Amino acid sequence: MHRKKTFIPFLSLLLILGLTSSLIAKVNPAKKPIKVLMVGGGSSHDFDKWYKGTDVATLEKDGLAEVTYTDDPSTILQYLDDTEVLFLANNQPIPDEATRKAIFAFADAGKGIILAHPALWYNWNDWPEYNKTMVSGGSRGHNAYGNFNVDLTEKHPVTKGMPTNFSLDDELYYYKEDPAGPGIEILALASNAETDPFPSIFIVKNPNARIVGIALGHDAAAHELEAYQTLIRNAVKWAAK
Ligand SMILES: [Zn+2]
Repeated sequence: MHRKKTFIPFLSLLLILGLTSSLIAKVNPAKKPIKVLMVGGGSSHDFDKWYKGTDVATLEKDGLAEVTYTDDPSTILQYLDDTEVLFLANNQPIPDEATRKAIFAFADAGKGIILAHPALWYNWNDWPEYNKTMVSGGSRGHNAYGNFNVDLTEKHPVTKGMPTNFSLDDELYYYKEDPAGPGIEILALASNAETDPFPSIFIVKNPNARIVGIALGHDAAAHELEAYQTLIRNAVKWAAK
């Protein structure tokens, strides 16, 4: 009898603990980090410092994302199956045909893609489909590094929490739409006294993928700016849906 008496309260306790923890799990489900593959590497930028360093830390803060960074395009294929958002920040070539096809299949499957600063350039003469379909255009030039204004043009989850206008030192990319591409929805324009506005933050109207174009990001002045950090976190969240 003595044994039974202690056994029953013990079972009840287990039951209560079990119910409580399952209830907590339902009320506050632990959010899994978004799996991001970030590709950097190429010319003119300190990819290790600003993308592999600062941007990865920005995205991983508070468990928002789990980022795999690579500057070796031959490794993209091995990671892509396990990726929710592909963050391209490279201006080095992605020469492998199978990898190029896999990136397009990733888009066709409705996944998320972020195209950051160097990846908005017309980088590859032998891959025109990249600019036409993924970027819906691209840049062939930019202002000399210096100060310009960024003005948000509409409300969107990608720009939520950002100031409606701000200025920074960066390269003002001359992004131009390709009329043969899927088109873009402009979320912000960049301009200064000498330069007419160019799209700075935009959504590419790809029929399947969620693609965000971010023209900002040459160096510290962008990557350490709170508005930029809010932007890339929003963009990854929105693209992962
Ligand atoms: Zn740059």
